[in-house]
This record gives sequence, structure tokens and C-alpha cells, in this order.
Amino acid sequence: MRIEKVALIGLGLIGGSIGLAIAERLPEVATSGYDRDPEVRRRAGERGLAQTIAATAAEAVADADLVILCVPVGAMVQAAGAICEHLAPGAIVSDVGSSKASIAGTLHEFLPEHAVLIPAHPVAGTEQSGPDAGFAQLFHQRWCILTPPPGVRAEKLAALTRFWEALGAMVEVMDAAHHDRVLAVTSHIPHLIAYTIVGTASDLEEVTRSEVIKYSAGGFRDFTRIAASDPVMWRDVFLHNREAVLAMLDTFLVDLAMMREAIRSGDGETMQTLFTRTRDIRRQVIALGQDDARPDFGRADHG
Ligand code: NAP
Repeated sequence: MRIEKVALIGLGLIGGSIGLAIAERLPEVATSGYDRDPEVRRRAGERGLAQTIAATAAEAVADADLVILCVPVGAMVQAAGAICEHLAPGAIVSDVGSSKASIAGTLHEFLPEHAVLIPAHPVAGTEQSGPDAGFAQLFHQRWCILTPPPGVRAEKLAALTRFWEALGAMVEVMDAAHHDRVLAVTSHIPHLIAYTIVGTASDLEEVTRSEVIKYSAGGFRDFTRIAASDPVMWRDVFLHNREAVLAMLDTFLVDLAMMREAIRSGDGETMQTLFTRTRDIRRQVIALGQDDARPDFGRADHG
């Protein structure tokens, strides 16, 4: 199967980046895009996030062999409802949502029999959102996890795999529930910690808000970057990946209590052992090309 036309529903950071990456790396593939916000559609047209910006989702998906829902997790059902009667026969319907099991269940109910559902999650992003945030290199050397339902047609899975690889991503196939547990610990809990610590610091009465901002370089600054991530997107992630997040949070709280006890009892050995192990993990992340050792995380390169 060859993908000749891709429809992008939602033209923010991820939808826009997919459109720009297609233009750069798959110029022979036609793109159409739709976003519910007219201002986003106007800006998407100016930036060329898709070749055609449609006035409705139905119009955008006409004749598309691949439809990618790039909306917040909580908006997936509404987005699927708007396209389900307008899909081309045999079209692949995918998404980019940060949690997978709940989305797969709800999308499955909405789609016609002839459509082929293959949920996906590009593990790539920034704390920016909206139509100005996307860039063509976002997926380069980043993982894209596909969570196909059992029995999905092999040629459709192969076509979607080739598509993401063409955009520069490395593809992994995983069970949706397993994806949700892995991402709970690698992405969702870290965001929860960042949101909480930044909230805690700003609530402290004996430390003024201006001091928090002034001395932020001592580690807090990196949390503020993550805590600046889109509030709607992250609200939806925690609402939809509740079970996996709660299970990982319980484990984290046990470990946090252990570190609290180490500090209370002056157990430097426990602390040093953990901090040495975690430094090694950071080195492995850099060695695998998943981050940059430079203090600015190499972000200045994206302009
Ligand atoms: P974004 O920049 O906020 O873009 C989402 C766009 O979708 C917004 O313009 C939004 O409009 C629009 N939208 C909402 N409901 C819609 C609907 N029913 N039909 C058409 N458009 C609709 O968000 P994003 O960062 O690209 O995230 C999109 C998805 O990617 C989310 O599911 C998220 O979990 C996933 N993801 C994000 C990241 C990341 O780092 N940001 C990484 C990987 C995956 P309104 O603003 O009017 O709602």
C-alpha cells in the first residue's frame, strides 16, 4: 500500500510538525489539514502546515489514505465523530495521543468497519503548542510507538511504519496497555512532578515569587520548562491514563518516602548510591541520542 494523501485533524505542535515534515521528506504526498479554530486554520495556511486547509474535517479527510487525529486526547471522540462518515474506503485512521488504551477503545466504536485503526504516539514534543510551534525536524531520531489492535492488516501496519520512518522517526510496536505504563513513568509522572513542584514553590509564603524566579537556575528552571506544557493536553493525559499513572505514582511515593527517611536519618550512603545510579541513566540517554549534553538541551538549534 502507498500513502498518497494524508489528512491532519488538529494543526497545533504535532499536526503542524507532521505537515512540515511531510513537505520536507515526502514531497510527493498530498496533505490536507483542518483545525476547529479559524485563527489556527488561517495561520496554518500561512505557514504551509498542509497543502490544503479545509473548512471542515469531512472535507479534509475526503480521499485521504491516512488520517491522523492530532487533537488533545479528550477531543479524540469529537474529532472521530466528525470524520467517520466521510472516510475513504480502507483508510488508515491513526492519532498521536499521549495515552493509548482508552483512545483505542473509543475510536474503535466510532469508526466504520472498512477503516483501519492504528493508534500511534510520537514520543517527541516541546512545551510549546499551537500552529506556530511545529517544525519539520521534531520527529528526527525520536521514537514513534504504534499500538495496533490484534489482527490488523499487515500491509497497513507496514505502510504506517514506513510513513513515520520517512519523517525521521524510529518505530516500535507495542501493546496499548504496556505503552501506557511505560509512558506513565517516563513522561506523565515527570510532568506531574514538575507541575507540582512549580506550584509548591509559588505557594511558599516565606520565599517570595520574585526570589523563586531570580534564583531559578538551581534546577527549578528545568522544571518550569516542563510545567509550561499545554494545560488542556496534560489534563486530558491524566484523565485518560489514570490507572497506569496511579500505579506508578504509588511506586514513586514509596521511593520518595525512602529518600525522605534517608535525609531525616542522615543516611548519606543511600543518597549517594541512588544519585550515582541516576547519573548513569542520564549518560545512557545522551549516548542513545535522546538528548543533548549541552546545558540548553541543544534547543537553540531549532530557532
Ligand atoms: P496543540 O498544539 O494544542 O494542537 C491541538 C489543536 O487541535 C488545537 O489547535 C486545537 O484547537 C485543535 N482541536 C481541538 N479539538 C479539535 C477538534 N475536535 N477538531 C479539530 N481540531 C481540534 O496540541 P499538540 O501539542 O499538537 O497535541 C496534540 C496531540 O498530540 C495530543 O493528543 C497530545 O497528547 C499529543 N502529543 C503531544 C506532544 C507534545 O509534546 N505536545 C507529544 C506527543 C504527543 P483548540 O486550541 O481550539 O482546542
